[in-house]
Amino acid sequence: MSNLTRLCAVASAAALSALAFGVQASPTPSLVPPPVDQALGRSLLKELIEIDTQHAVGSTGAAHAVAARLKAAGFADADIAVLAPADHPTKGNVVVRLHGQGLARPILYICHLDVVNARREDWTYDPFKLTEKDGWYYGRGAIDMKSQDAATLESLIRLKREGFKPHGDIIVAFTADEEAGGDANGVDWLVKTHRDLIDAALVINPDGGEAGMKHGKKLYLGVQTAEKVYVTYELEVTDKGGHSSRPTPANPIFRLSRALARLGDYRFPVHLTETTRLYFAGRSKLETGQVAADMAEMLKPSPDPAAIERLSAATETNIVFRTTCTATQISGGHAESALPQRARATIQCRVIPGEPLDGVRQQLEAVLADPSIRLTATYPGDNSPESPPAPKLLRTIEAVKNSMWPQAVLLPLMSAGASDSAFTRIGGMPSYGVDASWDDLDDGRAHGQDERIGVQVFDEEVEFTYRLMKALASGQ
Ligand SMILES: [Zn+2]
Repeated sequence: MSNLTRLCAVASAAALSALAFGVQASPTPSLVPPPVDQALGRSLLKELIEIDTQHAVGSTGAAHAVAARLKAAGFADADIAVLAPADHPTKGNVVVRLHGQGLARPILYICHLDVVNARREDWTYDPFKLTEKDGWYYGRGAIDMKSQDAATLESLIRLKREGFKPHGDIIVAFTADEEAGGDANGVDWLVKTHRDLIDAALVINPDGGEAGMKHGKKLYLGVQTAEKVYVTYELEVTDKGGHSSRPTPANPIFRLSRALARLGDYRFPVHLTETTRLYFAGRSKLETGQVAADMAEMLKPSPDPAAIERLSAATETNIVFRTTCTATQISGGHAESALPQRARATIQCRVIPGEPLDGVRQQLEAVLADPSIRLTATYPGDNSPESPPAPKLLRTIEAVKNSMWPQAVLLPLMSAGASDSAFTRIGGMPSYGVDASWDDLDDGRAHGQDERIGVQVFDEEVEFTYRLMKALASGQ
């Protein structure tokens, strides 16, 4: 494509987006919010990062700070609820509602307020102070997910100030305890005990999105429609034991080892979903040569097994194709000179959504092929379904993306890890992870040291969140 054609394509996308958002087309449309909103976004980010919401501290302080900002922005007390489980008063949540015209059912945003622990001595900067340095904001939660919290809160306040009337209500729940595996997970608790407050036709979870960048080049904006289901098993083999000078074939360590070796060699069957087919279709545009051709092949009703075989060789694509079960812990024996009486292993499975969990267990038993091994589900898994990658919704998200980054690909995806969307999906609300906190795929710092977000990336994230919220709330 010539330079000229490329510029035309960008210009026409910009013109289209200007039409979509009812503003005058300008030759260089700004990707950052107006000054008042840029300043508000930054001030919210600073305030949220500087409120410590590690697991031991809880999120009630942050929930009250969000509520205060909402009140200052003119939201009525009746539309703001700060609430925590009676037995976990520090695990506070805040739910706010911007009333719509009643033309559509509500949209719910879920945004966790808690952060992974951070120790001052591990960091270059104080993790609970917002530090701006060389075009970056540093602080715990900078990318997971206080920047998205700030962007979502800013967008809601901006829409309120502008007098925007959504078709249906926009609800935002800022919640507790996503990171620590939650004794008081806010989304789980709200779905189970305050459904009326958060009930919605559509859930957006900015935590579940993935905006992938390499060397500063924006590659794809992910829309997470599904998560693999987390299931843990314990295997146990026992025997009466004895003196190690008189070995027997019943040795539990050998029996367990043989079974684990069989599992190590096994691949679960290929199971593509609506989402993962679309994922490969999108990814193929970012690849070249054989890999691009193999990924494009995945769109066919029965893809060539040779293509699947080649793609399965890479971990990143293998985990998209199939359920995986791997050994994560092992223990056994009780004395150097004794035959073991017991050997145990932990097996961690990540199951493709929609696959029956008892079927996975049966496959596991068949592969282990030793009926004397006792298999116990220590974390049986909650079977959260895939949310349909609905074409109309994807088109709306893509139009907003194109209004800012036409060069990046929209990529429906299934996560191998888990987010709060599991709870809303189990609760029957289709949920989508999407946000634009562009992060370098080779330098992800979420949960790590010196977590950061680009200053420009943050400003654009604030603008993207506003545009997407407005677009989604302007449709049925
Ligand atoms: Zn997160």
